[in-house]
Amino acid sequence: MNASGQYLGRFAPSPTGELHFGSLVAAMASYCDAKHNHGKWLVRIDNIDPPRELSGAIASIIESLTVFGFRWDNKLVMQADRSNVYRAALNDLSAANLLYCCSCIRRDLKAYQHYPGICVPASLASAQSDVMTRLDEGAALTSVRMRTDGIVHFTDLCHGPIETNFNQTPDDPILLRKDGLFSYALACAVDDADGITHVVRGSDLLDTTSHQIAIMQALGKTAPQYAHIPVATGLDGHKLSKQTHAAVLDPQNAIALLGESWAHLGQDPFTFSTTGEFWNAAVSRWQLSKVRIAIEG
Ligand code: GLU
Repeated sequence: MNASGQYLGRFAPSPTGELHFGSLVAAMASYCDAKHNHGKWLVRIDNIDPPRELSGAIASIIESLTVFGFRWDNKLVMQADRSNVYRAALNDLSAANLLYCCSCIRRDLKAYQHYPGICVPASLASAQSDVMTRLDEGAALTSVRMRTDGIVHFTDLCHGPIETNFNQTPDDPILLRKDGLFSYALACAVDDADGITHVVRGSDLLDTTSHQIAIMQALGKTAPQYAHIPVATGLDGHKLSKQTHAAVLDPQNAIALLGESWAHLGQDPFTFSTTGEFWNAAVSRWQLSKVRIAIEG
């Protein structure tokens, strides 16, 4: 629970496309878990990557959520409005001597699964003046990474205990991209550390979680609880995504899609004929433990 003692969940779509069935599953799981636990549920639009943004996607996402019967608490959060907060986080991390500039290009890293630390400076303290200069530039030839060591442990509510040993496998995350944009890891960590108590999202993001927790810890913040739910895949077995042009949610088919999403989450079936009826029953019947069973099964 957060400082006010209340569950605070969120759904955080990127406006790189319209919502598809996989988005419905993630939105449903985070919504049901929040509401079942008498919590609040926020919608945050992760619009920190203008080059990848699809024109009209934000309006379409809001429209789809509304038609499918989602009701969010508080105002929509727009990451694009929060540059000052991300910038302040970078200042704090630099003051803690954790940042460094990295000039590696994709080709340098092709042979590695994790960033092997090529640009880690001999002295992090003396690297900070370059970092501060870099923060004042727009696009530049370097990105900014955070030195990450030690072991991150967390217990995922669906996957159980997870441990990442950054001493054994260094993998310093990029916080500021070469094009001058804040990275997803930074923005997501800063926003989720700002009072979110539960992050329920697709298991395709499980690998990003240790980095996000490391960033939160370096900022002296408490990480939320995580539950990574099974992602929806297409007939070809690949994750449904905006990039692979998964079918946009069809409002005419809302009732059937709500039922399919509920079944995908391993929840016990029930009958309903309106979205309102669905949500009333879904919130009270929701069982996160069934999602775990769906994963194991
Ligand atoms: N914005 C990210 C996406 O749409 C998800 C963020 C998250 O849930 O952490 O893939």
